[in-house]
Amino acid sequence: MSGNESETKLVNFAMANATRRKITNFLANGDRSTEEIGGIVGKAMLDFHLKILQQASLIELEEETVKLSEYGRNFLKSKKEKVAEEIVDFSQAKPVEIAEVRQLLPCIADSSKFRVIANMAPPPGGILKVLEPLFPKGSYSDRTGGLITQKGEIITTIYGTGKVSIRMIKNESEAREVLESLRNIINEAIAKGVAPAPRKKVRVELMEIYKYLPQTNCGKCSEQSCYSFAIKLMAGEVTLDKCKLLKEPEYTGNQERLQVLTEYI
Ligand code: SF4
Repeated sequence: MSGNESETKLVNFAMANATRRKITNFLANGDRSTEEIGGIVGKAMLDFHLKILQQASLIELEEETVKLSEYGRNFLKSKKEKVAEEIVDFSQAKPVEIAEVRQLLPCIADSSKFRVIANMAPPPGGILKVLEPLFPKGSYSDRTGGLITQKGEIITTIYGTGKVSIRMIKNESEAREVLESLRNIINEAIAKGVAPAPRKKVRVELMEIYKYLPQTNCGKCSEQSCYSFAIKLMAGEVTLDKCKLLKEPEYTGNQERLQVLTEYI
């Protein structure tokens, strides 16, 4: 792709959609079948999204296998470099404010708790990666562009876009306390203008993943046991959706936990 105006428009259009961004990030870890991609982003409109990415020359389709094109790989690489540049420019970061608390939904893991979606402005962007050490259980994911933090049962994800998702919240005032604390931590760091010293990444242990699997060894994932499945999950060789039992209502809480934990792998 030469990068002329109409081609740039195709790429911008393709990458303006969250599902298509998720697909390209998923492909950054290797070629995938359409079945696997459908398991991650859902099957509705999958053909349409793949067609748009293909038209933008970001992916290549070979029968049922989807892979990033060379252009797609270079595009993702340049995006990562851009984030790194933003991080270097930490001194230019602006203080954030909580712009709105948009939804208060029942939490899947515990119906007596809530899930809150809020918005931070201006969007913190790439500085989140630098701020990771400020949160004792914080972990930044390059894949999602989000910083996950955990305090007790409360799990918060802040995205570079400004979106904040908080799970396992008792009520709106607790959500506001959490948001205020986040804002203060981020703004204090910005006011200092010095990036915190990096620390060792939080690692998820194999047994922690295994603990939340159904442990029935039913074999529906084509693995001999849940333990083998956990090993492959840690190695990035399978995805969570391959465990059929996790989709059953009694395991919704486990699935939610595992979704968060796998973000740390
Ligand atoms: S489908 Fe799930 S419960 Fe069954 S063996 Fe695989 S990981 Fe275990």
